[in-house]
Amino acid sequence: MTVDRSETAFTRDDLAQALQRNQFTLYYQPIVSATTARTVTVEALMRMRLPSGQLASPQDFLEVAEQSGFVCDLGEWALQRACSEGLNWPGVCVAVNISPKQLQFGFLNTVRRILNETGFPPDRLELELTEHFPVEDMPRAYAKLAALRKLGIRVALDDFGAGYSGLIYLRKLPLDKIKIDRAFVESMDPESDILVRSIVQLGRNLGLTVTAEGVETSEQQRALIEAGCHELQGYLFSRPLPCADINTLFGCGSASARLRIAGAS
Ligand code: C2E
Ligand code: CA
Ligand code: CA
Repeated sequence: MTVDRSETAFTRDDLAQALQRNQFTLYYQPIVSATTARTVTVEALMRMRLPSGQLASPQDFLEVAEQSGFVCDLGEWALQRACSEGLNWPGVCVAVNISPKQLQFGFLNTVRRILNETGFPPDRLELELTEHFPVEDMPRAYAKLAALRKLGIRVALDDFGAGYSGLIYLRKLPLDKIKIDRAFVESMDPESDILVRSIVQLGRNLGLTVTAEGVETSEQQRALIEAGCHELQGYLFSRPLPCADINTLFGCGSASARLRIAGAS
């Protein structure tokens, strides 16, 4: 079902109103262990319910949210919601995407408050920071990410390899994980295979967890496991699902959900 474009030309006020009217929701996409095929993490991905009943995806509203600064309100809402809903899935980590803008204003206090209010264990929270991140913000980000990690929260560098600055961030930012950008996985052939293998090795040598996203075929899965990826995410395993389906997946509390993965034991 395609979304009517005339429904998705949003302003900041539209987004604020939609937040007030409870139109935002989170979908969750499983991330599986490459070795055990178990869901180790679910990534929270924001959606907005339109009056027609259709769902708008982040590409329809994130740009306006970023430009207007409203992404901080939205991001706080997403963190609160993910921590509340994630309480139902013991043993599973919850990854939340954060915008570089959120790191600028009182983010540490916001995270502490949300963890206190929800009782969500920090060692089950991962924050994904995109590689499309302004280099000039790095000194400020460093201290904040270090403080978040002190709380037990893990930090992932998302979309790794998609921009120009990935290597600088690897050297300078306190990280736990890299997520290899979908573009590398999409175009896997003998040549980019070498590139992906090298990226995986780089991450592993730095002691980071390496996740590949956008895995759609069992050939990609095999190549990524062989390359040494720790975790895989993509439509091959599951599309992003509404909270109710994730509850079902985990049997409303049991963390032993095992997705069907061709070839993984
Ligand atoms: P991302 O963090 O890189 O998330 C992965 C995107 O790829 C998601 O798109 C997901 O639905 C899609 N995807 C997952 N597996 C596959 C696959 O196998 N094939 C293909 N073709 N696509 C796949 P989505 O949900 O539209 O999100 C787009 C982007 O919006 C995210 O990219 C993230 O950067 C941003 N985003 C989503 N939720 C939030 C949020 O709560 N806060 C912030 N700041 N950004 C968010
Ligand atoms: Ca992400
Ligand atoms: Ca990504």
